[in-house]
Amino acid sequence: MTALDVDPTDTLVLAEAFGVTVQGEGPSAGRRCSFIRLGGCNLSCGFCDTPETWDARRFDLRQTLTRTPVAEIVTRALDGDPPMVVITGGEPLLHQHQDGWRALLGSLILAGAEIEVETNGTQTPTDHTARWVTRFNVSPKLAHAGDPAAKRIVPSALYALHDNRKACFKFVCRDLADVQEVQAFTAAHALDPGRVWIMPEGTDAATITRRLGELADPAIAAGFNLSTRLHVLCWGDEKGR
Ligand code: SF4
Repeated sequence: MTALDVDPTDTLVLAEAFGVTVQGEGPSAGRRCSFIRLGGCNLSCGFCDTPETWDARRFDLRQTLTRTPVAEIVTRALDGDPPMVVITGGEPLLHQHQDGWRALLGSLILAGAEIEVETNGTQTPTDHTARWVTRFNVSPKLAHAGDPAAKRIVPSALYALHDNRKACFKFVCRDLADVQEVQAFTAAHALDPGRVWIMPEGTDAATITRRLGELADPAIAAGFNLSTRLHVLCWGDEKGR
């Protein structure tokens, strides 16, 4: 199967596909890649920087989201020959039971691309997803995100992702108290600190830089890794980068 012989009826709800750029966050930060951003999310984080993918109160989702043939999505994602494609959202694993999802993963794999999936950690990967994805960047949400714990923490999904050795865990933090909450979270759910990245919340370079300075020492002391948001340092909050 290639992008050109995907079943034309296979579609997914797309917000945008863009690149070539670089992965800005987590263990692959700095790597050339393209992004596929799918619509819909089961959470409603106060700091979300892509609310146009899910928030019908603030956005006309008929304008921001388009049901798009998978062949077209794959062609756009592979333009420029990136070695890696990042599938993000929204919450992309909400789509994993659709034929279009399987067609998307299969097409990218056959094209030789690595696949990263960015997920909020509330969805258990299907066998197909677990097998075909190269890396899961799992970003569980802390209390400051705003949703109740029962909605943002799904232990069965977290355990399934942790059991998959291809998953790393990335926590958005503002200050020392958030790092301490991550320590309690990882202890409570037996997450390996060596697979945890602490990343500053912020959509401008000054905020990212200031918070990195505050987060670095406590993160390292707790046995965690540290991530910046490289795309914000390069391009601010410009869309499509
Ligand atoms: S999980 Fe991600 S996409 Fe969904 S609301 Fe939170 S930050 Fe936004």
